[in-house]
Amino acid sequence: MTARLIDGKTASAALKQSVATAVAALKSKHGLVPGLATILVGEDPASEVYVASKQKTAHELGMTSTQHNLPAETTQAELLALVAKLNADKAVNGILVQMPLPKHLNAYEVQVATAVLKDVDGLHPESAGRLVTGGEGLVPCTPLGAMMMIKANVPDLAGKNAVVIGRSNLVGKPIASLLLNANCTVTIAHSKTKDLPAVCRTADILVVAAGQREMVRGDWVKPGATVIDVGIHRIPIEGGKTRIRGDVNFDEASQVAGAITPVPGGVGLMTVACLMVNTLKACCLQHGITDIEIPTTLPKA
Ligand code: NAD
Repeated sequence: MTARLIDGKTASAALKQSVATAVAALKSKHGLVPGLATILVGEDPASEVYVASKQKTAHELGMTSTQHNLPAETTQAELLALVAKLNADKAVNGILVQMPLPKHLNAYEVQVATAVLKDVDGLHPESAGRLVTGGEGLVPCTPLGAMMMIKANVPDLAGKNAVVIGRSNLVGKPIASLLLNANCTVTIAHSKTKDLPAVCRTADILVVAAGQREMVRGDWVKPGATVIDVGIHRIPIEGGKTRIRGDVNFDEASQVAGAITPVPGGVGLMTVACLMVNTLKACCLQHGITDIEIPTTLPKA
């Protein structure tokens, strides 16, 4: 391997430490403790693990956090009623509805119903609009974390060619907006893009969020590029265990890239840390507080 490893463990630990410091300052200066509410509908084991980790991290960083478990047969009206109740609850600064929802529920309606300043997942259309138009708002957690990693590893982003594979509202579009806001020249590639390997080879920064296991090969990577692998794939192996891989063929790409995120141990670890950043930021936005430093960067690589 010749590429520098972009270590999500170190980065997320540093970010969480900065959030804990800011939470303590918020409490001592303003007497406020950020509150996160998570909603889980049904009993998906992977979602249960994700929500438990969000709850645990919030507590560790000095926030309050409450968990709402709803049965799988919950109706849209019941879910929207809970969101409305949390919107009105002053002790709740961030509302996270764990995705995916059971098939009979409409996720978009839930996102639209969430108060914009409590939208810590950054999926409300107004949050997306604020990001695109350069306004202050809440940015989806995974792209926020990926962008912090990029900024820490690429000192001068202006004019760099960035290619994003994937155009989802959750990852592809927001990371493309963040890169554009940082003055990169951005290409968004997707499932209909022609000659994807050639497009990727133009990238100084290659962000891969395609949901296709180990799709990006070594010869798709421009020598020296920064490669950010957002993909997460759990592959069953013997003994009931799973192995985790990304959207990038790590063994090949790490021979060519200048810096690369591993999977596991890369972007994925930043997501929960950024949810904590967003909950802190949501609390400050709701109270008009401007003298608390919201962490936006990681230590330089
Ligand atoms: P998605 O399925 O909503 O979107 C995938 C995008 O990739 C689509 O826009 C599609 O056009 C594009 N795409 C699909 N196949 C392609 C191909 N062969 N060539 C080019 N483009 C292709 O997925 P998503 O929610 O954006 O997630 C992407 C990946 O990131 C998944 O592996 C997911 O598990 C992972 N993810 C990780 C985190 C994290 O915390 N690290 C968070 C969210 C998603």
